[in-house]
Amino acid sequence: MNRALTILKQTFGYDAFRPPQDAIVQTLIEGGDALVLMPTGGGKSLCYQLPALGRPGCGVVISPLIALMQDQVSAMRELGVRASFLNSTLDGASVQAVEQSLLAGELDLLYIAPERLVQPRTLQLLARAEIALFAIDEAHCVSQWGHDFRADYLQLSLLHQQFPAVPRIALTATADERTRAEIVERLQLQQARQFIAGFDRPNIRYRIALKHNARQQLLRFLKSEHPQSAGIVYCLSRRKTEEIALWLEQQGFTALPYHAGLTPELRAHHQSRFLREEGVIVVATIAFGMGIDKPDVRFVAHLDLPKTIEAYYQETGRAGRDGEAADAWMIYGLQDVIKLRQMMANSQGSEAFKRTEQHRLNAMLGLCEITSCRRQALLAYFGDPLPEPCGNCDSCLQPVDTWDGTEAARMALSAAYRTGQRFGVNHLIDLLLGNATDKVRQFDHHQLPTFGVGKQLDKSQWSSVFRQLVARGFLKVDLEGFGALQLESHCRPLLRGEQSIELRRDNLKKSVRQQTQTA
Ligand code: ADP
Ligand code: ZN
Repeated sequence: MNRALTILKQTFGYDAFRPPQDAIVQTLIEGGDALVLMPTGGGKSLCYQLPALGRPGCGVVISPLIALMQDQVSAMRELGVRASFLNSTLDGASVQAVEQSLLAGELDLLYIAPERLVQPRTLQLLARAEIALFAIDEAHCVSQWGHDFRADYLQLSLLHQQFPAVPRIALTATADERTRAEIVERLQLQQARQFIAGFDRPNIRYRIALKHNARQQLLRFLKSEHPQSAGIVYCLSRRKTEEIALWLEQQGFTALPYHAGLTPELRAHHQSRFLREEGVIVVATIAFGMGIDKPDVRFVAHLDLPKTIEAYYQETGRAGRDGEAADAWMIYGLQDVIKLRQMMANSQGSEAFKRTEQHRLNAMLGLCEITSCRRQALLAYFGDPLPEPCGNCDSCLQPVDTWDGTEAARMALSAAYRTGQRFGVNHLIDLLLGNATDKVRQFDHHQLPTFGVGKQLDKSQWSSVFRQLVARGFLKVDLEGFGALQLESHCRPLLRGEQSIELRRDNLKKSVRQQTQTA
């Protein structure tokens, strides 16, 4: 039996590796570097714990989560692994004891906080010890535009410079391409083998539909598919979670709000009811879900668009942890996009940070608007490709109808252009439909050649065209201009008729269409 497998069984008590743990472990044992992208719960820890035991010397784990170090060390010690940590919670005598045991070769694993590692004293210590490997956990903290940026992580490239012979493994659950490239660059992991795996959640059925009447759509979904299931409904605002929870109660469901504005007691109470009772629905802002491990959540419903694909993946991932069929159900509309863009524009943060946020929102919109398999697109985003369409998402189950929207897109773009890119979607639709409203007259827009050229489509079809043009980045919403639609430079070929475009046919029933406002 090979050595890694022996350690896996004897020390960790597992029968088999979860691929690609085996290949990762092998890479490190042989002295190579690795970059590992796996979702939370995927089994990243083993990827460095095991090779630390399989190589001579002590494995050094750099982790920003000081609060968790003690737990990890205790868990390791229970398995008979000689583990310790160095962080600011230790007093001088304890630090010395840990240092002594490291130098004496009596440690298999040493957890160190990044700010501690980069101190000269620690580096000198490590230089005198035998090091099996360096594991850089939560490696996305090196990404300056991410939410978890830590300046100390930027200095970790010194590991490569000062310990060129020691293999390194960087691990994260954040796997978009840009973050990955930043990790490689900043940690100097150009030689590292990349392992991206385990993002697929085959038992989750992904569905994304247009929002026309959020409450009725949600009610229909719950009544027909989840009359008694435990589930989570995500909303963007605190007020909305309370309104929806109350309304669901009136409809006969057990529904509880959850958001950061509730008292800690009430939050804990709602959380524990969700965990202990059957069929409780929590209506929550994103504050809910961190660290909640309820295996039988049967659905996650989004009434508002998440800001990023990572957030969508993480939130939907709370469904179906038991492996049984579960639903990720979402509705969205153009108003969501405008609201999110507004929130981003008003948020703190550098211009570059805001730009990145916009890009990530665009990727999320792309996932909403694609006409092919959602799961393939989702996994492709994480670099974990799925060769065949999944058969378990709305696109696969009900192939999307498309139409040649080239002409309509040209009209829509030229309406925005000819009105000086200063007007919102409703006004532009009035213009295309030839509605001589007061506002149209006020600006003399009934004199424009675009006036009334779009009568072959109705209002809801036009809002669908505009929504898709925004989602695909041909138009952008100007937030200082009260939602004015502006042309993006790459819409030119489309505007000139040099490029064609296929649009989703939004199959809204007629009755529904009449209720449709603009979103
Ligand atoms: P991550 O760090 O990726 O969030 P963990 O390393 O904490 O995930 O692992 C998640 C869970 O999977 C843990 O309970 C761990 O014991 C278990 N696990 C990891 N690898 C295996 C394996 N090969 N066989 C069985 N269980 C495993
Ligand atoms: Zn699919």
